Amino acid sequence: MNLLLIGSGGREHALAWKLSQSPRLSKLYAAPGNPGIGRHAELVAIDPADHEAVVRFCLEKTIDLVVVGPEVPLVAGLVDELDAARIPAFGPSKAAAQLEGSKAYTKELCATYDIPTARHRSFVEPAGAKAYIRQQGAPIVVKADGLAAGKGVVVAMSVEEAEAAIDMMFDGGLGSAGESVVIEEFMTGEEVSYFCLVDGEKVLPFGSAQDHKRVFDGDEGPNTGGMGAYSPAPVFTPELEKRALEEIVKPTARAMKSLGNPFRGVLYAGFMLTSEGPKLVEYNVRFGDPECQVLMRRLKSDLLDIFEAVVKGTLDKVKAEWSDDPAITVVLATEGYPGDFLKGSVIENIEAADALPNVTVFHAGTRTDGEKILSWGGRVLNVTATGKTLKDAQAQAYKGVDLIDWPEGFCRRDIGWRALKS
Ligand code: ATP
Repeated sequence: MNLLLIGSGGREHALAWKLSQSPRLSKLYAAPGNPGIGRHAELVAIDPADHEAVVRFCLEKTIDLVVVGPEVPLVAGLVDELDAARIPAFGPSKAAAQLEGSKAYTKELCATYDIPTARHRSFVEPAGAKAYIRQQGAPIVVKADGLAAGKGVVVAMSVEEAEAAIDMMFDGGLGSAGESVVIEEFMTGEEVSYFCLVDGEKVLPFGSAQDHKRVFDGDEGPNTGGMGAYSPAPVFTPELEKRALEEIVKPTARAMKSLGNPFRGVLYAGFMLTSEGPKLVEYNVRFGDPECQVLMRRLKSDLLDIFEAVVKGTLDKVKAEWSDDPAITVVLATEGYPGDFLKGSVIENIEAADALPNVTVFHAGTRTDGEKILSWGGRVLNVTATGKTLKDAQAQAYKGVDLIDWPEGFCRRDIGWRALKS
C-alpha cells in the first residue's frame, strides 16, 4: 500500500516509525514531515492547508490511505475533500471533528446524551457570561469555544480572574476562537488521557497515558504542549476504564452516528477522575503529542491493518496488542520555551541516544543543514524508552537524554513522577 502521512511533529514521527514496520507498506510519503520522519518516508513539500494540492498528489501517486496527524487540517475538512475524491483517509470529517473544534458542540452533545462532564453554559456576549460567573462564584473555568492551541482555557481561582478571561476572549485576544465561550464547573481529581479508535460505530480501546503540561519540574511554570508522557496510566484501573468506555466514549460514538456525523479516526478523551467517577474534560480528534510516542513504542500489532480497519468499518476484525512494558517519553525543548526562543542551534549525538537498547528518539522541531541537525521549534526531540518497569523506562530515557549534546536545550527531570510516587 502507498501511504501519505500529514504532519511534521513528534507524533507524526512516531506514526511513521510504526507504519514503516508494516510488511504491507510499499511506499510512505509525508507532507511536510521532518528530518526524523525522513528516515522512514519520502518528504513532500506540500502545505496540508492546501487541500487541493494534497488531493492532486494522492491521485498522482495512487495513494491508498492518507493518515492525518494534526487537528487543524481535520477541523478544516481535509478528510471531506479526500472522501469526495474517493481517497481513503484516516481521520474524522469536518462535522465529526467539531468534537475538538468546538467546545460548545461537545458540551451540548454531553448534555443531550447524558454523558458525564462538568456542568456548563455557553455565551456569545460578555454581560451574560459575567453575570453567570458572579452567580456561580469561583473557582470556575472559562474556555474559548474554538481551537486556541492550548491557550484557550483559564482555570480561574477568583471571580475577577474569570471576568478578566471573559474580557480577553471577547476583545479578540484569541482571535475567532474566543467569539463564543463556555463556562464550566471546576472539577477536581487526577487527569488521564484515553485513546479509542472508532470506525463510525465500533470502538477499539487504544491505550491510556498521562502527560506533564507544565514546563518545569514539580509541575511548576506555564503550560506547554506537553513536556513528557508515559503509558499506561496506572491510576486508570480496568474498572475506571470500563466505566469511561461505557458511560462516555461508546455513547459519544453512538450519538455522533445518530446525528449523521459518524466519527472515524482516533478519539482522544481527557478525563478527570473525580470522586463520582470519570468525567469528560475534553475530546481531541487525533493522537496526543507526546502521548502518541509512548503508545507507538508499546503497540505490537500492525498499525496499518488497524488504520485500514477504521476506514473500512471493520474494527471488529482487528486486535490491538500491547507490550507489557511501560513506555515513557521526555521532551527536549529549546531554552525559553513556551515563551520566546531562538531557532537554529546545533544538536549532536542524537544517534548515540537512539542506539541505546529500548530507546527511540523522535524528532518534533528539527531541520537539517547539510549533515547537521538544527533545532527548529519549541519542542524539539522526544526521547522515548520502554522498560520492565516504569522506573526502568524512566532511567533509560534519561540515559538517552544525557547522551544528546545540545547546550541550548532543556527538559524536565521528573517525567513519570505521579505514577512512580506510589
Ligand atoms: P489541550 O491543550 O489539552 O488541548 P485545551 O485548550 O483543549 O487543552 P482543555 O483540555 O479543555 O483545553 O483544558 C486544559 C486544562 O485545563 C485541562 O487539562 C485541565 O487541567 C484544566 N481544566 C479544563 N476544564 C476543567 C474543569 N472543568 N475543571 C478543572 N480543570 C479543568
